[in-house]
Amino acid sequence: MTLADQPPAAALVFQTLLQHGPMSRAEIGRRTGLTPGAVTKVATPLMTDGWINEVGRPTAARTNGRPATLIAVRAERALFAGVKVTGEELIGVLADLTARPLSSRRVSLGSRDVGSVVLAIARLVDELRAAAGLEGADSLHGVGVTISGDVDSQLGMVQYTPFLNWRRVPLAELVESAVGTPTVIENDVRALTVAEQWFGAGAGLSTFALVTVGAGIGAGLSIGGRVVSGAHGVAGEVGHLPVSGVERVCTCGNTGCVEAVASTHAITEQARQATGDPGLTMDEAVRLAHTGDPAVRAVFAHAGHAVGLALACVANLIGPERIIISGEGVASYDLFADHIRQTFVDHAFGAAVDCDLVVRPLPFEEWARGGAAVAAQRVFVPAR
Ligand SMILES: [Zn+2]
Repeated sequence: MTLADQPPAAALVFQTLLQHGPMSRAEIGRRTGLTPGAVTKVATPLMTDGWINEVGRPTAARTNGRPATLIAVRAERALFAGVKVTGEELIGVLADLTARPLSSRRVSLGSRDVGSVVLAIARLVDELRAAAGLEGADSLHGVGVTISGDVDSQLGMVQYTPFLNWRRVPLAELVESAVGTPTVIENDVRALTVAEQWFGAGAGLSTFALVTVGAGIGAGLSIGGRVVSGAHGVAGEVGHLPVSGVERVCTCGNTGCVEAVASTHAITEQARQATGDPGLTMDEAVRLAHTGDPAVRAVFAHAGHAVGLALACVANLIGPERIIISGEGVASYDLFADHIRQTFVDHAFGAAVDCDLVVRPLPFEEWARGGAAVAAQRVFVPAR
């Protein structure tokens, strides 16, 4: 019997243990709404199959005066590869069932055409396996590939990804054929949000948002404990909230988008205009701003204002307990932190201002780990 053949109650019990860690049968029942008998009924085959086991008896968890036995996911039962695809490189992580990383690796992309990238992903997965000392196809249970843009994870289809300029690419199927292992795909920010919900700054929170600032600006939304995709798969596109004025055109073709003034590319372009230096790089713009150049500082201030408006929109719409700010852009966060916070405070409505803003620099390996986490969480979902 494979996991996908298990009854829904088994999936529920397994997911609960995966997400919240070891717990007693009584606690599983409380969290899932299953009766103690139903918990035992579904736990038994999972235990026989080696997916879960009984672990120690901490004195804190007692039932009827006796220490309760805890049930935990067996991390080593299955391994997953997570791969984040950017316009320039692949970042891969091999992880166990609890998304603990066992090996990681980065490779540059020689070409952005679909066939070359799929082959590069397959090679990277092989290298990750070799680096962790694994042999044979059976040792890998699933692959999770994450990529920016409009990604339909149910269909396994990249509808559109701007940095590679792909449209309607059935990426899950292509990678699955090349690697020989079941593959899921997900929007990269949403996968990182799954990782943050599972074992990062969103752990234990019911409603939180992750906003990433960098080459693009996006958000993952966890509402009532679920990371949402929306009816059309594009929930969380805060980079295209129309709040920034009409002076600049966004990559999407519209004006007013946050991304049109606050992405790395947009900041670089505006700094070039402000200084009259057409060859200025982002690093040089950051350096000029740090030395006090007023024109370049104004560019960062403007970007910070737009991001602050976006965060206030998120807070006013979903009322998160916390907004985590991450992405490559946080490396120069000091240059717009004050503007982000002030604008957020000015525009968050009522108690929404109590939302906690947390800055988390997360390396791309963490994003790749999000891919492995998504693959691990889909272990119960039947094949497409
Ligand atoms: Zn846009």
